[in-house]
This record gives sequence, C-alpha cells and structure tokens, in this order.
Amino acid sequence: MSSNNSNTIDLLIDLVQRPSITPEDHGCQQMIAARLQTVGFTIEHMRHGEVDNLWARYGTEDPVFVFAGHTDVVPTGNADDWSQPPFSANIVNGELYGRGAADMKGSVAAMITAIERFVQSNPQPNGSLAVLLTSDEEGPAVNGTVKVVEALAARNEAIHYCVVGEPTSAGTLGDTIKNGRRGSLSAKLLVHGKQGHVAYPHLADNPAHKSFKFLDELVSIKWDEGDDNFPPTTLQISNINAGTGAGNVIPGTLTIDFNLRYSPAISVNDIQTQVQTLIEQHKLDVDISWNESAAPFLTPTGSLTDAMRSSVSKVVSVDAALDTGGGTSDGRFISRTCEQVIEFGPLNATIHQTDERINCEDIDSLSTIYENLLENLLGKQER
Ligand SMILES: [Zn+2]
Repeated sequence: MSSNNSNTIDLLIDLVQRPSITPEDHGCQQMIAARLQTVGFTIEHMRHGEVDNLWARYGTEDPVFVFAGHTDVVPTGNADDWSQPPFSANIVNGELYGRGAADMKGSVAAMITAIERFVQSNPQPNGSLAVLLTSDEEGPAVNGTVKVVEALAARNEAIHYCVVGEPTSAGTLGDTIKNGRRGSLSAKLLVHGKQGHVAYPHLADNPAHKSFKFLDELVSIKWDEGDDNFPPTTLQISNINAGTGAGNVIPGTLTIDFNLRYSPAISVNDIQTQVQTLIEQHKLDVDISWNESAAPFLTPTGSLTDAMRSSVSKVVSVDAALDTGGGTSDGRFISRTCEQVIEFGPLNATIHQTDERINCEDIDSLSTIYENLLENLLGKQER
C-alpha cells in the first residue's frame, strides 16, 4: 500500500480486496464496525439468513442522521476480460480498479472517514449519527436493509435523515442527487390456447395470434403524464415465449413478462385494473401474477436536499440537480419510516461493468462533501 494514499483510499483498497459477492460480506462489516467502535459508536450486527447487516450508532439524541450503504458487489464476469484483476484495487492513472469500487465501496469508505473526522471535531453533535450497512443490496434484498428498518421500527428507534451512498453522479462528481425513485411492478402473464398441428388450425387455438392486438394495446397505454418530480410511467415487455421449437406445432400457451416503472401519479391498483380490463376486452384466457418489488418514494425539497446541495457546491463547486430516474435502491425501504431519504455518491459510468473503476480524487472529495453535510446538519460550530 502506497503511503501517498489518503486514509479514505487506503480503506477503499481494503474493501475492494475483499471479494464480497452478494450475499457474502467477507469481513467488510466487521472491519468497519471495529473502526466505528474505536470512535465511540455502539455496534449491532443484525445477521439474517446468509446476510450480514450492521447498525452502528453514535449518540442518543434526535435528530438521527443515517449513512446507508451496501458492502456486497455483483459478480465480476470473466476476470480475464478485466485490464486489472477485479479484486486487485490497483490504481492506474489516478483511477482505482475493482468490482464495487464505484458501487458502492467508494462511498462506504468516504462515509467512514467523513464520520471519523466529524466525531473527532464534534464529540457531542446536535443529534445522533448512524451507519446502516447490508450485504444484500444487489441480490434479492429480502434479509438486508428492510430487516434493519423493521427492527428499528419495532423498538421505536426513529430515523430523520438518511443518505444512501449509491453512485448517482452522471458526468461529474456532484451533478445529481436522487431524491426519490419510481416504483417497480412486474407481471407474469400466461395466455392459454390449444396446441395443434399447423395444418389443422381449426382444431387448435393459437395463443400467439390471439395476443398480438392485446399486446399492441398494452404497450400503447398512456398511463399518466408524470408530475413535477417524476417522468411518466413506462411499461416494457422483458420476456415473451411460445412454441415447442418445432415448425409444425401451434403452441398451447404463451408467456409474457412485463415490468412497469411507475410514478406516484398512478396507483398499483389502477394499473392492475387497466390491464385486467384490457384482458377482458380481448377475451383472453389468462393466468396473471403480479410482483410489486418497490413502491415509489419522494423526498421533497427541504432541509436534507438543501444541506446536500450546499455541501456539494462548497466542496466541488457543482450545482447539484435533484432527480428521480434510474433503478430502485434500498432507499425504498428506508423511506417507509424516514421522511427525508436521498441518494448521493460518485460517478456511475462503470458500475456493474468490466473494469469498474473510480477516480481517487473524487472519492476524497466525496468524503469531504459527506463531512461537510454532517457539519451542516449536526455540527455545533458556527456556520
Ligand atoms: Zn449499489
């Protein structure tokens, strides 16, 4: 390890070198817990099934500010396709390479060193500071953050502000703060027909033929207009299958998977009713199952978004925009009990890709931004 590295980059190297592919944590949380304990945090490991979760808290007063994140990473794919070994944390031209460097061990390292500096200069902050980490964000997310949120709610332990360290920056560090996310609703549709010989269609009932018009109308529905904070709801077919593989057999069934990314301008119930009505109009014989994987959430402009924008502006002179696009994150679980949840982190250009990497200077700046945010929200100094 080069002694030229900052404290934050040394921590990031340690984290990236642990191959913590979901749900494996590989000791990341133990190591972080030990550091936080050293500066006065109370540590609780909340393991559920194969998933490691950490809840660490400093202070007993309100408001409670939480940094949330994940220590797990997605698989690397073929390691030979990487220009640097995926768990090497090698630094080339100022960029640190490795799976999880951007999503989101860079943010985790930045949070921890920001906290260490902050509690050093503010041993008695105006409120409490906590860290919530899981090793199951990239996987099914069943035994992760949601379990910690439930445990806290069950003992009436409130959270007032939460920053999730997902990589939200698009072009330059600090350009984007996510202050909400669309909901995600999936459906599996099975259309029944009757199998037969293609030469004898009168003896069969082709579910593909029956479904074309229905599908065309389904994908043409204008669900809503969106609103000031959210783009309009969209539907995409992700899988469509029918047929035996043979060229002379009319399929007996057709299966279709589709997913909606929906805004709060429409309810799940409204979506389901419209789809059901369309199915009936087309007289299709179907089985349908729905999976609501994420409800939408929105943190309106307020004390947390203002403090974040001011910290970004102060540290990197960037005017951060609020945005609700992109996929889902664990923010969806925390928003159930916390009114102000935002996501803010480094560039997402290489996440989940071969040669995932992050600019080291950005991670040092990120740590300063996080520290400044803590000063803004919980600091006792003149400001
Ligand atoms: Zn992530």
